[in-house]
Amino acid sequence: MIPARFTYLRAASVDEAVAMLGQYGDEAKVLAGGHSLLPLMKLRLAAPGVLVDITPLDGLRQVRQEGGDIVIGALSRFHDLHGDPVLAEHAPLLAHVAGEVGDQQVRHRGTIGGSLVHADPAADLSAAVLACDGALVVSGPQGRREIPAAEFFLGPFTTPLEPDELLTEIRVPARAGTGWGFEKFRRRAIDWAIVGVAVTGTSVSLINMAGTPVRATATERALAEGASLADAAALAAEGTSPVEEPHASTEYRRHLARVLTARALERAAG
Ligand SMILES: Cc1cc2nc3c(=O)[nH]c(=O)nc-3n(C[C@H](O)[C@H](O)[C@H](O)COP(=O)(O)OP(=O)(O)OC[C@H]3O[C@@H](n4cnc5c(N)ncnc54)[C@H](O)[C@@H]3O)c2cc1C
Repeated sequence: MIPARFTYLRAASVDEAVAMLGQYGDEAKVLAGGHSLLPLMKLRLAAPGVLVDITPLDGLRQVRQEGGDIVIGALSRFHDLHGDPVLAEHAPLLAHVAGEVGDQQVRHRGTIGGSLVHADPAADLSAAVLACDGALVVSGPQGRREIPAAEFFLGPFTTPLEPDELLTEIRVPARAGTGWGFEKFRRRAIDWAIVGVAVTGTSVSLINMAGTPVRATATERALAEGASLADAAALAAEGTSPVEEPHASTEYRRHLARVLTARALERAAG
């Protein structure tokens, strides 16, 4: 449980962080809340030679409205997002889901940016940002680029982020007054979801039903065609590829997806 030796660097600005990442390339890793990276390092499943600590970058810790978008700094912690008034009004699904991640300690340290870049198929906020039609803004040596959430999750723990790029903000369309629902089935209160569902309006995303968060497209299509909530929810597992695990067979996961989608849609419909 002791990490391999590494060099610790502390970035004072986004540009400096990008320069440090560029200098060390694949050898370097960004350190945000450390709640995914440090456990992997302690288990020696990750052994970066250099850690670039971005926690001093307070400018990446804000939520603001900009035109029709809500902009969330990548360093915003789950606890802060859960209590943020702008998010609560304009992206209430995200504010709620941030309060469902792990336990108090995790929520006070973990960041939305770290969660999205880690790209765990079991992550709550990845599915929620996907349901919100969000986009991820990345800074690198070539400047900024925006990646739609639908193109960000390439596979388990895999994203299109280059080693010298930093996720700086997440943008979601402001949707005040839109109905939302979130359901997460887990064995213990602090556990990751065995299966989860995030709904905003008629957008539906699934947690842990594939190697990435996925939209429940058959359900969304049925809703657009006027199907009842129950009939649409019955299609939630179509096109998914859940993994088989000792505590959750693929068929059990499909069953959960249908049941949880029905509950989340009912909650969203108010
Ligand atoms: C006990 C426990 C329970 C948990 N339960 C849940 C749960 O129920 N649901 C859930 O979704 N998650 C859960 N998690 C996972 C965890 O909350 C997040 O994955 C974690 O907080 C990631 O954010 P971080 O800021 O800690 O990232 P870090 O651990 O610092 O970094 C994670 C990865 O992202 C990279 N990175 C971080 N920030 C950036 C950035 N801005 N730009 C580029 N790369 C970056 C790092 O280099 C690293 O590869 C749990 C974790 C623990 C320890």
